Amino acid sequence: VSGLVEVSVDDLLLVLQQRVMHSHQRPGIWDGDNRPGLANTRCLECAARERLWRALGMDLDSEETRP
Ligand SMILES: [Zn+2]
Repeated sequence: VSGLVEVSVDDLLLVLQQRVMHSHQRPGIWDGDNRPGLANTRCLECAARERLWRALGMDLDSEETRP
């Protein structure tokens, strides 16, 4: 599946509000002690979450959007 899909805001919020099962010292950036190629690069999951929060018009600096 690729492209855009239409989903309910409630479904999207329910998923986005689940605990993020990883963390970063700098929000959205892999820590320097990760494997080469991953260390200090953008976390794709966090980037995707940020895009989804932004699409919902949510403040990216709020507590719930910060892993
Ligand atoms: Zn992340």
